[in-house]
Amino acid sequence: MNKELHVLSISGGKDSAALAVYLKEKYPDREFKYLFFDTGEELQDTYDYLHKIESILGIEIEHKKPEQSFNDMLKLYFNEYLPSPQKRWCTIEMKLKIFLKEMKKFQDYTIYNYVGIRADENREGLTPTEENITTVMPFKEDGITLNDVKRILNDAHIGLPKYYDPIYDPKYDITYNRTRSGCYFCFFMKQIEWVWLYEKRPNEFKKAMEFEKSGYTWIQDMPLSELIKPENIDRIKKSYKKMEEIKKKQPIKNGTMMQEMSFMSKHDQMIEDIEKDKLCTMCTL
Ligand code: SF4
Repeated sequence: MNKELHVLSISGGKDSAALAVYLKEKYPDREFKYLFFDTGEELQDTYDYLHKIESILGIEIEHKKPEQSFNDMLKLYFNEYLPSPQKRWCTIEMKLKIFLKEMKKFQDYTIYNYVGIRADENREGLTPTEENITTVMPFKEDGITLNDVKRILNDAHIGLPKYYDPIYDPKYDITYNRTRSGCYFCFFMKQIEWVWLYEKRPNEFKKAMEFEKSGYTWIQDMPLSELIKPENIDRIKKSYKKMEEIKKKQPIKNGTMMQEMSFMSKHDQMIEDIEKDKLCTMCTL
């Protein structure tokens, strides 16, 4: 097995975009295979960002889609049960399996799978365990942190995806934005991000609401029709403001502040906790 394949999955998020820039500069003569796993439920911002990366770097990102749509899978195999942090079937069915299927075409290659986990992160995510696939984390190895990622993207004139553009709400004196790539309905979003979706991408919010007609909800015990009631938006924004004030004073570390976080919804507490180390590398880098 002496042939090599160098693969970089681009999620539409900032870290994998920065990694594409970084690897191109570090290994100008190395050929990379760039993959994007398209769930068909992405924000237009993501497609625009991928296009920008392609044109600035002069690369081609292959879009790989599952054979069945999210909606078909939901109905045929999952009895309308929406994916959740506890049962994250979407990543397995729509990303990991497609990745492995693609890699099967290169069974006689040594495959290097580059992942954009940064040096300032403590997570592993989903990484394939196939014998011929080696996971490489250049940012971890080279001590690249969040500030470096932002600098790399600025220097390359790529910048951040559009969904990072902050909204300022003067009534609450808060600034917020979507913080992750992936499906517009991703259940890993905190409640303020759902509010962002409602305010900034209403069509996608409506589509996310449609999926709740089956009775399952994206957020436990909080249908989206409830979330958008003015009293709930008011509570979410106030809670977000409080959380941001706490974070400014002291960064959150491994559950040490759970007591102080008790004003937050259970959903947000859970996501805050998951975020530290378990978010999926295939969706959110
Ligand atoms: S972005 Fe979220 S909803 Fe979409 S596949 Fe990944 S985990 Fe699932």
